[in-house]
Amino acid sequence: MTLLRFDGVAKRYPGGHEALVDVSFSVEAGEMLFITGHSGAGKSTLLRLVHLSERPSRGAVLVDERNLAQVRGARVPHHRRRVGTVFQDHRLLADRSVFDNVALPLVIAGVPRAEIGKRVRVTLEKLGLGGRERALPAQLSTGEQQRVGIARAVVAQPPLLVADEPTGNLDPQLAAEVMQLFASLPAQGTTVLIASHDLALIKRLRRRVLVLDHGRLVDDIAPEDLAA
Ligand code: ADP
Ligand code: ADP
Repeated sequence: MTLLRFDGVAKRYPGGHEALVDVSFSVEAGEMLFITGHSGAGKSTLLRLVHLSERPSRGAVLVDERNLAQVRGARVPHHRRRVGTVFQDHRLLADRSVFDNVALPLVIAGVPRAEIGKRVRVTLEKLGLGGRERALPAQLSTGEQQRVGIARAVVAQPPLLVADEPTGNLDPQLAAEVMQLFASLPAQGTTVLIASHDLALIKRLRRRVLVLDHGRLVDDIAPEDLAA
């Protein structure tokens, strides 16, 4: 089943040149893939189109074969609940504890309290944040804040997860652990899109890689061809 499809997508920012040029690809449910390319290649833009923080100038982005152009106004938050996001500015709530920040998507989804507690703790544990439940974001290191953002994105097991350089501020050991966590999500029904320029990490994980160059999709590499 095709979960995500880009069909001839272009994106031009006001006053800018084209950040994406005629991009087409599709992603099956349960895939995990990387988007790579130089800085300014269009990786973040591509992810923002999936999250509906930007709209394409041309072409269509479809989730579950539904054109996101039809998702307007009041329906946008509903769409976003189905898309877990890890962006570089984690946008954690400063006056809420780590626990409350991570619990938020479950609270919004109406998950019962006891279940919330369980799921938040399991997720924090997986991300090495077991002892930090009561801390406020400002009391955490950058790497810890980043992991809280990741915990919040995955806790509700969304159908789709988009992550923009999710391991950028992490040391190699933690980066590898976070990637392993992402790699475990497809088995739980989450399709995972990760923008990254960490080629070593990508090669080690051996997943499909889309390569952007100045807004164009120039390569779509299958895992078995990654060694080269
Ligand atoms: P990447 O994530 O690969 O670094 P981006 O998607 O952030 O690439 O950027 C692609 C191009 O679009 C770059 O030239 C960037 O400067 C431009 N761009 C990104 N966001 C905006 C914006 N909000 N307004 C104008 N130009 C933008
Ligand atoms: P990333 O490294 O994740 O691609 P960027 O540095 O490209 O992030 O973008 C950070 C923020 O700045 C985004 O909100 C993006 O929309 C904005 N931005 C990026 N490039 C431009 C640009 N050329 N003009 C205006 N805003 C931009």
